[in-house]
Amino acid sequence: LLLAYDPAKRLARLHVNLNNGLVGVKLMYELIDDVPALRDAPGAAELNVSRGEVRYTDVHFAYGERPALHGLTLTAQAGKMTALVGSSGAGKSTLFSLVERFYDPQSGSIEIDGQDISKVTVASLRRNIAMVTQDTILFDMTIRENIALGRPEASEEDILQAAQDANAHEFIIAQPGGYDAMAGEGGSRLSGGQRQRIAIARAMLRNAPILLLDEATSALDAESEAKVQSALTRLMQGRTTLVIAHRLATVRDADEIHVMDRGRLAESGNHAELYAADGIYRRLCDLQFREPDQAKV
Ligand code: ATP
Repeated sequence: LLLAYDPAKRLARLHVNLNNGLVGVKLMYELIDDVPALRDAPGAAELNVSRGEVRYTDVHFAYGERPALHGLTLTAQAGKMTALVGSSGAGKSTLFSLVERFYDPQSGSIEIDGQDISKVTVASLRRNIAMVTQDTILFDMTIRENIALGRPEASEEDILQAAQDANAHEFIIAQPGGYDAMAGEGGSRLSGGQRQRIAIARAMLRNAPILLLDEATSALDAESEAKVQSALTRLMQGRTTLVIAHRLATVRDADEIHVMDRGRLAESGNHAELYAADGIYRRLCDLQFREPDQAKV
């Protein structure tokens, strides 16, 4: 129930209000980019991303009385794939919420290319970040409009390109109505794998240097899974990616894995190093990762 306060989850319920027609599309864009409304610091500068390094330094954060991060320090290297793993409640999603500034830490700092994110405008910060999560919100509007949420001013050509890069174009044109087909409430007219590819297309269109990815835990059929994975690989190319990893293939591919344990950083390294170290990571690996292709190591 506590998770009900999570901004991403609150957003997911927005379609209920949106579908009564009282809320215009423009407001919807604002909701996606500015939820919840957070005031810029006086004299806030525009975030200027050159390399895309994300650094958390000694971050303490609690949801009210409930502590989530206890002095967490970690870096996601520019242009690399950094995987976050850890048992439920370790604080992985909280790291995403903080870098998006859905909340501010009680102490410590988060910097992107050396700029403290609490000192830049929220709009410039969020323009530079794309997030794809298990329940990325699809609204009951056309598929084209759902993709365009990534960048409202995008041209038709850009939208088509993003859909193609996301392996979504083919299934879209196979729908009656194609890009003008309605996605259904919460994307209910689409399969799980199709919804994910629309979410990926939206992120492609946003073309942000920093990508936050929460891998789906729900299983897709093999063909859909393969299409989602190849689209994600394309999306990650050249971006700093922080991924909450649920798949063994992902941690194997990650440049660096940070293992979180109860709000702290417990272990860091690549898959082979961490597995050999025979610590928390190894236990998690043996328990947690969904294994589509059987082999454990
Ligand atoms: P999971 O894998 O289950 O998503 P996680 O590693 O992402 O877990 P977080 O969601 O970051 O963990 O949660 C860290 C701690 O903060 C947990 O104790 C959780 O119960 C608490 N928490 C998370 N979101 C909220 C919230 N919106 N309000 C209150 N407490 C929260």
